[in-house]
Amino acid sequence: MRKKEQLAIYGGKPVRDAYLPYGSQWIEDEDIQAVSNVLRSDYLTTGPIIQAFEESVADYVGAKYAVAFSSGTAALHAACYAANIDEGDEVITTPMTFAATSNAILYLDGKPVFADIDPLTYTISPERIEPLITGKTKAIITVDYTGQPANYDQIQQLAKKHKLLVIDDAAHALGATYKGKRIGSIADMTMFSFHPVKHITTGEGGMITTNQKSLYDKLKSFRTHGITRDPNRWLYHDHPWYYEMQDLGFNYRMTDFQAALGLSQLKKSDKFLRTRRTYAKQYTEQFKDLNAIITPFQHEDGHSSWHLYMIRLKSNKIKADRLLFFQALQKENIGVNVHYIPVYWHPYYQQLGYKKGICPVAENLYEEIITLPLYPKMSEQDIQDVIAAVKKVHAYFSTD
Ligand SMILES: *Cc1c(COP(=O)(O)O)cnc(C)c1O
Repeated sequence: MRKKEQLAIYGGKPVRDAYLPYGSQWIEDEDIQAVSNVLRSDYLTTGPIIQAFEESVADYVGAKYAVAFSSGTAALHAACYAANIDEGDEVITTPMTFAATSNAILYLDGKPVFADIDPLTYTISPERIEPLITGKTKAIITVDYTGQPANYDQIQQLAKKHKLLVIDDAAHALGATYKGKRIGSIADMTMFSFHPVKHITTGEGGMITTNQKSLYDKLKSFRTHGITRDPNRWLYHDHPWYYEMQDLGFNYRMTDFQAALGLSQLKKSDKFLRTRRTYAKQYTEQFKDLNAIITPFQHEDGHSSWHLYMIRLKSNKIKADRLLFFQALQKENIGVNVHYIPVYWHPYYQQLGYKKGICPVAENLYEEIITLPLYPKMSEQDIQDVIAAVKKVHAYFSTD
């Protein structure tokens, strides 16, 4: 048996000296130049760069329309509004996501209904969705968890049969493909986030892409107070200064200097994606023979954009629980994380009446996963450090 190195958590020397965060943006000089150009221009908001960014994202993902928002969360709120979610309407979604996904349903007084995940891909299970559909169900919100597309063939079939809208939370999935087609036009509406840990960043920011003009119009109105400046859509009109507020919207606009950053970042998104995929492949290659670790399963229908890479611990093959394994990696100076706490476990959802145990596959997954650092700005050495740390901690705790 190979000699076990002393873990940093027990006083040994850590694999690396500097702490490696789990995610990070990559901003270069040309990004900064693009932002400062806009800062020197006439428009800081509602200017031409927003539209240029929207058109570029629509083009990149293969959708007809795109609407930029101040965050991915605002974009999800707008998508639920455009889907006409109203008081008491049910929307089926996954618990294995960031709380923003189902919060958007609550913003419109809708009711999130959680369907369990597929035990292999960890995305929402179509088999679990169907029995949850009732007369009140209006929509399904999928999440392309970690960057792996959900099972759209089956989900679309269900949606068609029951006349439901599909909203894709693709915060993890810019550049991912499903059956050869980019994520962005498969669902009725698709949300992207430009938070700094996501594929490209605008600081804060989000986007909805769609192929449907009617949804596009609603999204645009919702972003700007429910106001329309299009005379053809006015109910009443007269004066040259006239505009009309027709619905209760918000100010959810992105600024033009953020859009400039987004445009500049988007040019690099294929390069970023290639790096993520290369690194993910290296991880899988290096971890596939570790007996207490399950590497991410990839369905042949999808090509992941690898927002997150997580390892899953086989609890019966290891003398450490997830917490200890996690802390041991942290002490090796590897910034690990856990994605996600099942949404309905949060106190806010608990007081709404959601019970623990409703999605056992997701709950079991949550107990066993650890997210490793993965982003294009990582160096080859950073990747090697993560691999070394995982192997070191695994060797220490593994039962054979
Ligand atoms: C990041 C994220 C969001 C929210 O996006 P923001 O831009 O941070 O508001 C929503 N859903 C998922 C799955 C995310 O990862």
